[in-house]
Amino acid sequence: MYSPLKYIPSIFHKRDPLQFTLFVTARCNARCPFCFYWQDRHTVQDELTAEEVEKIASSMGDLLWLLFAGGEIFLRKDLPELVDSFYRHTHPVIITLPTNGMAPDLIEPSLEKILARSPESAIVCKLSIDGAGEEHDRIRNTPGSFENAMETWVRLRRLGERYDNLQLGINTVFCRENQDNMDQIADFVETLPGCETHTISLVRGNPADSAYKEIDLEKYRQAVMRLEKDLKGGNSKMYHFTLARLKTAQDLVQRQLIYETVRQGRRLLPCYAGRITAVMNEVGDVFPCETLSDKMGNIRETDYNFPRVFFSEQADRVRAKINNSGCYCSHECYFVTNILFNPLMFSRVARQYLELPGHSGAVS
Ligand code: SF4
Repeated sequence: MYSPLKYIPSIFHKRDPLQFTLFVTARCNARCPFCFYWQDRHTVQDELTAEEVEKIASSMGDLLWLLFAGGEIFLRKDLPELVDSFYRHTHPVIITLPTNGMAPDLIEPSLEKILARSPESAIVCKLSIDGAGEEHDRIRNTPGSFENAMETWVRLRRLGERYDNLQLGINTVFCRENQDNMDQIADFVETLPGCETHTISLVRGNPADSAYKEIDLEKYRQAVMRLEKDLKGGNSKMYHFTLARLKTAQDLVQRQLIYETVRQGRRLLPCYAGRITAVMNEVGDVFPCETLSDKMGNIRETDYNFPRVFFSEQADRVRAKINNSGCYCSHECYFVTNILFNPLMFSRVARQYLELPGHSGAVS
């Protein structure tokens, strides 16, 4: 498997992107009222083609973490080709593929192709579960979504038995509609065979139904503390990729920091968005993160040459604005890089690491 250790120098020199998020489509087969991406209505014709993505990937350096986003990414029938372009050119240590699980017949063959073609990457497939049973359908305003998600889970597990590079997880969006049922959801996820992690994402952005954002922050804290207790008590598993235990410790710190960030209403850590992270949407616009609308450029206007966008004067202006504006957010992806690549966070991560069960003293 590709090693994450080669990215250690980025702790001290944050010059090149090592985390890249590619939105491959805004299309979706669910109608979740809490979705942050519902206003993007690009057509299939606008989406970057597989040929365009091949050119983009070939212009980029190696990546620690590649995240595909949408929309429902498996609606792109050419998803395996898109992943393959990045696998060949950027050698990602981790490739994350989130799904709502609505289309098991599309997901299973597509994921199998990806697993077979990407043996050196950890393929993290995260299924969304926001309620146990019919509650999931109600919260997502999408009848049948729970049943489909469970069918998808069965098929993912079968793939997991054949492909050791597959890592399976569940993600729950914490919102007003499920904040009172988080224990029930956590109980349910613990019964799911093959589940290696359960994460919670705090609802973000400007959802179609803004009431979903009216959350009780203390209930978020209780929910993440429950997950922490389960992990430290040995009731929850961890991923099996290299340094997965370290990643779990970082997750624990991240949840504490997200709670504190929202409670205090300010950024508590330096943000490396636009320095070691980048986001591209399905029409080729490049941003430092998913939250800010400040565009660094468009890949189609630079002959698909990513460095020409990322190191442009416009990108420098966006980075300067991030440094000066003091913007803040609760977006989990940026806490990952802001924690792991900040030396001041190491002792805090180490403390959590040592509290996880089964550590041998060696970093794993
Ligand atoms: S703090 Fe959040 S919104 Fe601001 S640049 Fe970082 S990731 Fe983006």
